[in-house]
Amino acid sequence: MNFDLVTNLESCYVEIPNILYYSHIPAAIISLILAIFVVYKNKDYVGRVLFILALSFSLWSLMNLVVWIGHDSRLIMFAWSFFGILSVAITLSSLYFVYVFFGKGDVSFPKKIIFGLILLPAILLTPTIYNLPGFDAVSCEAFENYYFTNYYYFGLLVIVWILILSFLRYLKASLDFRKQIIYLGVGIELFLLLFLMLGYFAALFNNFEIEQYGLFGMTFFMGVLAYMIVKFKVFDIKLIGAQALVVTQFILIASIFTFATSTVNRILVGITLLITSGAGWFLIQSVKREVKRKEELQIMSDKLARANDELRKLDNAKSEFISIASHQLRTPLTAIKGFISLLLEGSYGAVQPKVRDVLNKIYLSNERLIQLVEDLLNISRIESGRMEYKFMLSDIVKLVNDLQDTFVITAKNRGLSLTFATPKEEIPPIEIDQAKIREVVSNLIDNSLKYTQKGGVTVNITCNDDAVRVIVSDTGIGIPEENLPYLFSKFSRGKDTSRLHAEGTGLGLYVGKNLVEMHHGKIWAESDGPGRGSRFIMELPLRQPIDDNK
Ligand code: ADP
Repeated sequence: MNFDLVTNLESCYVEIPNILYYSHIPAAIISLILAIFVVYKNKDYVGRVLFILALSFSLWSLMNLVVWIGHDSRLIMFAWSFFGILSVAITLSSLYFVYVFFGKGDVSFPKKIIFGLILLPAILLTPTIYNLPGFDAVSCEAFENYYFTNYYYFGLLVIVWILILSFLRYLKASLDFRKQIIYLGVGIELFLLLFLMLGYFAALFNNFEIEQYGLFGMTFFMGVLAYMIVKFKVFDIKLIGAQALVVTQFILIASIFTFATSTVNRILVGITLLITSGAGWFLIQSVKREVKRKEELQIMSDKLARANDELRKLDNAKSEFISIASHQLRTPLTAIKGFISLLLEGSYGAVQPKVRDVLNKIYLSNERLIQLVEDLLNISRIESGRMEYKFMLSDIVKLVNDLQDTFVITAKNRGLSLTFATPKEEIPPIEIDQAKIREVVSNLIDNSLKYTQKGGVTVNITCNDDAVRVIVSDTGIGIPEENLPYLFSKFSRGKDTSRLHAEGTGLGLYVGKNLVEMHHGKIWAESDGPGRGSRFIMELPLRQPIDDNK
């Protein structure tokens, strides 16, 4: 710049807006801290570009302050001459920042050339007479070159540019990234708008306080941007937030010193500063502890999630294995059953009574094995969600009564009575999968016969407006109250039951409960205590819910 044009005026006093220091010093310092903090936390391009942006803004605030408070025309001219290049740097780096944030990497080489070409005239012209041609000694202001000033208003174009860029990126972004685009877009657009418009409006209305408030806004949005890029990368954002808050408060209060006129005011500001610093220190410490705890929790819950995943995989593998093994077991067992039946019927010649007795025992053991395999298969189907249901309107009374034939011999052999009571009321047909419900009721009757030594078993069917109940009661060993909640769990058997029936598996009621629940029904047990018999109640709704996708 041609300083010869400037007459050295050492008494350039202009009226200073009230909050000049209060707005400029924090803006310059906070953006500088943000700039350093961001590169420190983010060593990638996004961090570096935001550093340039924050640094340019910090320098701009500093130069602006110098222009306001400088009394020496040369100093004012020197500081003023940077406005152009810094404005271009701020707008360009905003644009650059948006590109790298959206692209998750550096911009392409041609774009860099374009950015360089935009910056080049500002670099070349800044030290020349085409930037500031002279100094107005009356108003203590530099003359600005009309073309050069207009050149750095190209920032308005950048605002539109960023708007379009954000919109296009938004359209193809994931839901999570859309949120980031909105925060970032709004943050940077408001920052630029304030930067470009405030000076203009301040000059228009000849009110330079507007510009001062704008600086607060810009610092705020700069903070939002820093917060944004850090938030999506590091965990301890709360801590950073608390630190930033305390530092900002400190700077703001400290800058009040600059225009606190009386000693009393200075003392008050000093005390406020001390209290705020102390409280801030405690705040940071407590947030630090919280963040640490949260981090530990996060690590633990991650571990737990992984372990859970492993378990689920193992469980699936186990179900798969059971399913395959059971299928393989079922075929030979069915063949054995068929051949024993043929032997017993005399298809291979007359059977001696002694041999018949043994064959009968083999037949029963085989039946138990078939039941076990069936239970295991059912469990693997239920747990993998592969159980298929064929619902149809059915006469539940007939279905239950048909079971009489199956159990009458067993009851007789055990010296027990088996009564199927006639329902007192009319039982309407209900929508069920017959085979599944038959299996559940069979298991209940079978259990009652198994766990009863004298007396007998009664099967009742009742009905109300909403549901049908099948109640299987016996005069058997009963169930201690503390066992009632566990009966329907997988592999759960009563403590003393194995004495009576060593071969049980504890699967029947578990499978039954699942089958009934798929019918939107309920199943539960009642007992007056050990030795006083039990009641097993299955309740099925009269109508299945309509939206059921069975
Ligand atoms: P399992 O009969 O093979 O052991 P279940 O799932 O059918 O398996 O029954 C689980 C447990 O519930 C039985 O071990 C037994 O302790 C108890 N239980 C079931 N029915 C009765 C009953 N009618 N009376 C007493 N206890 C019963």
